[in-house]
Amino acid sequence: MVPGRWTGQTTDYPLIIGAAAVRIAMPTDIPGIHHVTAIAGDPGRNLTFYTETLGLRLVKRSVNQDDVSVYHLFYGDRQGSPGTSMTFFPYGDARPGRVGTGQVETTQFLVPAESIDFWVERLDAAGVTVEEPVDRAGERVLPFADPDGLSLELVGVADPPAGDPPDGTVASEHAIRGFYGVTLRVGDPRGTASLLEAMGFEEAEEDGTGSAPPDGSRRRFVADGELASVVDLTVDPDGERGLPGAGTVHHVAFQVTAEEQEAWRQLLIDRGLRPTEIIDRKWFESVYVRTPGGVLFEFATKSPGYTVDEDLEDLGESLMLPGWLEDRREDIESSLPELDVRIGAE
Ligand code: ZN
Repeated sequence: MVPGRWTGQTTDYPLIIGAAAVRIAMPTDIPGIHHVTAIAGDPGRNLTFYTETLGLRLVKRSVNQDDVSVYHLFYGDRQGSPGTSMTFFPYGDARPGRVGTGQVETTQFLVPAESIDFWVERLDAAGVTVEEPVDRAGERVLPFADPDGLSLELVGVADPPAGDPPDGTVASEHAIRGFYGVTLRVGDPRGTASLLEAMGFEEAEEDGTGSAPPDGSRRRFVADGELASVVDLTVDPDGERGLPGAGTVHHVAFQVTAEEQEAWRQLLIDRGLRPTEIIDRKWFESVYVRTPGGVLFEFATKSPGYTVDEDLEDLGESLMLPGWLEDRREDIESSLPELDVRIGAE
């Protein structure tokens, strides 16, 4: 056991409140990513790309709760399960961002290993610039970008989980199963690496076995989940900080349970970080924290999920608002751009 590394075993730790020592349970290991949220430009172009080209389902259409003149579009598997949900704030007039340190550099989706050639052809036929697949840790990786320049990869995995792909534009044998992981770019990896380990991720060995990356340019951390379980760190000590804007990721969220969310908050505080309060996002509850490497993390609950306010078969069809915005619905709807949600509908 590495000193200071939390092993994930069920233990308690004392929390001193006044004179009394109260014991609260340490949270259990995080299985992986919950969702990734990025900034886009035109909402229609974003919708077409993620549903028609990538074959994901629009599982929720709402607004940015901090700027209700902008949509919040959520894509994912049939029900937008945690580990599959890519979400966007599409600002029609967004300026392009620039990827740098303190940001998610690349978002990776998991596909079957045999499907990489299918995807090369499919993306090429859709006019997407695809790079040559590369080999990383024994897996074929296909790098490409979305219409806003957001860096994406498809990672071909042998014996992939079946997942729950939608009856969309891509046959289920080739469909994206969810996230593979994300790559974070940091100037100094130490604080981020240590936090990931506290969250239950284990660093892959550098001896070229297992899921180890093939060279020293990235460090790999792996959680227990079958999807969305990989976080790579690329280290760029002299790199420029990223600039937010279209084509960049805003934050990456990790899966927690509602019961343990306060314990995660406390763990972040104990590490000297400054998490937000628990914020009700309607489909999940969220705690945000700026991590030592600069990347914004969210701890999002797996429940209640996207079917809390729409039936499974209707997901994405209507503009859904949290209760506290309902009385402003008319104003909100009239200020949003037109969006043809029949695109990508099942
Ligand atoms: Zn989020």
